[in-house]
Amino acid sequence: MNRLLIIGPPGAGKGTQAARIAEELGIPAISTGGIFRKNISEQTELGREAKSYIDAGNLVPDEVTNRMVRDRLGQDDARGGFLLDGYPRNTAQVQELDAILEELGQSLDRVLLLTAEDDELVQRLLGRAAEQGRSDDTEEVIRHRLEVYRAETAPIIGLYEQRGLVARVDGLGTVQEVAERLLAALGRS
Ligand code: ADP
Repeated sequence: MNRLLIIGPPGAGKGTQAARIAEELGIPAISTGGIFRKNISEQTELGREAKSYIDAGNLVPDEVTNRMVRDRLGQDDARGGFLLDGYPRNTAQVQELDAILEELGQSLDRVLLLTAEDDELVQRLLGRAAEQGRSDDTEEVIRHRLEVYRAETAPIIGLYEQRGLVARVDGLGTVQEVAERLLAALGRS
């Protein structure tokens, strides 16, 4: 049980939970949004390619994102498992991840789906905007990211449900409570 995805709308708490769960399981948490933000702050070529899409709340083009994930999953520390946060985010990326894992002779063990109501999500993201000043956390961009999630990302849940991989976990509660639910969904508590 150590090749995992965490999927959920912006603001559901994926990043926070991914870091905790991954630490608990001794596997790397791989956040595509986190990798993009690091590259933007370091002003790399990848950062320059991604920035305008991220600031507008749109998906970075698949070609760029897929290449980045393929590289990352090929690294040594991901050989024994990983928790992918923020990828795949549309059906084309699901197919690409299938191909990458097949080449590596690996397969997914579980897809964690973190749920929360829209109003709660917007409130949390506006709170984070005030604290951290992420450039894509303005109200207009937040609402657009929720739309993109509904239109492009939510449909992939059905694909993983057909494979019997999805564990649905309520994202409402303290960080600790949600972490415990997630670990329970992985049979770890
Ligand atoms: P959130 O889930 O709160 O929107 P993320 O850190 O997961 O935050 O993503 C931030 C932004 O990074 C997204 O709005 C998108 O522009 C970009 N991004 C992250 N992952 C992907 C992906 N798999 N495909 C395309 N773009 C992505």
